[in-house]
Amino acid sequence: MKILFISSEVAPFAKTGGLGDVGGALPRALRAAGHDVRVVLPFYARVAEGNFDIQRAFGSLEHRLGPHRLSFSTLESTIPGTDVPVYFVHCPTLYGRRGIYTQDADEHLRFAMLGWGALRIAQQLRFAPDIVHVNDWQSALVPVTLRSVLAWDRLFEQTRTVLTLHNVGHQGTFGAHVLPELGLEAARDLFHQDQLAQGKLSFLLTGILHANAITTVSPTYAKEITTPEHGVGLDGFLRGRSDVLFGILNGIDDEVWNPRRDPYLRHHFSAGALAGKLRCSLELSEATGLPHRPGVPRIGIVSRLTWQKGLDLCFSVLPRLLARRDVQLVVLGSGEPKYEDFFARLARAAPRQVAFANKFSEPLAHLIEAGSDMFLMPSRYEPCGLNQMYSLAYGTPPIVHATGGLVDTVRLFDRRTGRGNGFVFEHFDEHGLWWALDYALSCFEDRAAWSRLVHNGMTEDFSWSHRVREYVDLYRKLVPGASS
Ligand code: ADP
Repeated sequence: MKILFISSEVAPFAKTGGLGDVGGALPRALRAAGHDVRVVLPFYARVAEGNFDIQRAFGSLEHRLGPHRLSFSTLESTIPGTDVPVYFVHCPTLYGRRGIYTQDADEHLRFAMLGWGALRIAQQLRFAPDIVHVNDWQSALVPVTLRSVLAWDRLFEQTRTVLTLHNVGHQGTFGAHVLPELGLEAARDLFHQDQLAQGKLSFLLTGILHANAITTVSPTYAKEITTPEHGVGLDGFLRGRSDVLFGILNGIDDEVWNPRRDPYLRHHFSAGALAGKLRCSLELSEATGLPHRPGVPRIGIVSRLTWQKGLDLCFSVLPRLLARRDVQLVVLGSGEPKYEDFFARLARAAPRQVAFANKFSEPLAHLIEAGSDMFLMPSRYEPCGLNQMYSLAYGTPPIVHATGGLVDTVRLFDRRTGRGNGFVFEHFDEHGLWWALDYALSCFEDRAAWSRLVHNGMTEDFSWSHRVREYVDLYRKLVPGASS
């Protein structure tokens, strides 16, 4: 099949979270399964700063979005280590800025242009996709575009669209006045009319209304988002499309997140040979300045520091834990000041127990997964979550709240039977978190039980090679004549 994959993040070029990892890994897995997949993302300033081999593909074109005349050209590369073509929409007026996402007044233009740029690149390539696969709000206007203002183009006559929801908390909602600037004035009737009347326009809702199929990144989250509690206002629309809404769990990229060959680690290991994990632990001590004390449990956190991640529970629990138990804590993350301040204070108060790296660092994220004993992820909600799968693969059992994809990937360890792969607390409150940490620490003292637990996680298969079949089956169902 021919697949045009459009994403605002594609690792290693541009990543702020799980979307970036999926944007890099799913196309690679589709290619490995024999499909012709082309990836499109913006040429952000940070891509230019990275050390990638990028060529010019097509010269400058003009694109009108209402009153704006935007000039863009197309650059090309491949996902490193693969032959998957990647095309960049190079529009310095929109993307030549510091961040991937901004609070700037033209954010709607930046991502309307991503969808338009991708479709114009397909036209220039004469690439007639069977599937256009879009991700999150940033590319969610593509289905309505194909259905309306590009319906004349025979190139897309057979094209079907899939929208993947990586997080319905981010919807790309703007004032209704932006509609004339999206290049979709002629499709005004296809936008949600009540919302427009209320003066709003949501990219994500428009995608939900018009995509041929909608997927989200775990079966549990697929159910959760059809409820008022987790639907963030979209639950009614998602219930209305439940016949084409599917939950497909994310995989992990086993070239990059694999302790046997992790390119960011100097020492490698596997379930049967764990010496490398001890060396990673020593290296993590050196990197963070924490005393190296094998046998003392070390808890790792790698996270965007936002409300979603549930770290508020740590405010009372972690100071108490550090005061009462001999444990270490290594935290990597950045985000909202209240969480950054909390971890900075914790590290100042107990420098021999806590290290906090307030930044984004891919190498340190890998070292924390490898060099910690357990991994904490108390998310309030979690569409899929990748870090818990990385930690399972790295012999670092996760401690998680029972929500979304965490339910689908982490099973409570039972010390008597030796079954399970981590620690799960049901109730999102301090007692729940305390219980899970306390139970994890007591299991850690039981060396035989702990080895079993580590082994259970490390021998599971979370790779994309399995998961990709579910996407391919879905594509086949959508594409006329491809279901055989
Ligand atoms: P989300 O997409 O909600 O951020 P996921 O668990 O799905 O959560 O994916 C998070 C990804 O982002 C992981 O690859 C994780 O290692 C990475 N990540 C998050 N914060 C940082 C950071 N400060 N430095 C490096 N990597 C980070």
